[in-house]
Amino acid sequence: MAIIITDECINCDACLSECPNHAIYEPGEEWTYSDDTELSGTVTVPGTGAEVDADQENDPISDEFYYIVPDKCTECKGFHDEPQCAAVCPVDCCVPDADHEEDEDQLLAKKAWLHGE
Ligand code: SF4
Ligand code: SF4
Repeated sequence: MAIIITDECINCDACLSECPNHAIYEPGEEWTYSDDTELSGTVTVPGTGAEVDADQENDPISDEFYYIVPDKCTECKGFHDEPQCAAVCPVDCCVPDADHEEDEDQLLAKKAWLHGE
């Protein structure tokens, strides 16, 4: 499953550069599927099958705290043994997102989709 940042986040910025998928954004920052991925143009999101414009700037998920885009979070599968955001977070506010449950095969497929493999 994806990781979610709770409202205990202290906006310290430690996690942002650790994410291999650019799934983490600053509060109030717009996000795209294409940021630091191989995605561009019209793409089909794994899992939901939604067709989206990878280059479109999307509304921030949070204006108050750092946030994670679930469609870009792979729990760091294929890169690291554990979620890097959770590993570096000083207040342990990066936790499993029960609303976005995925098994390892799904997470690896998402990683391959993001990075054009
Ligand atoms: Fe990024 Fe990994 Fe955290 Fe997901 S678990 S947001 S991929 S650092
Ligand atoms: Fe928030 Fe934790 Fe990321 Fe710091 S490391 S910005 S406290 S989620």
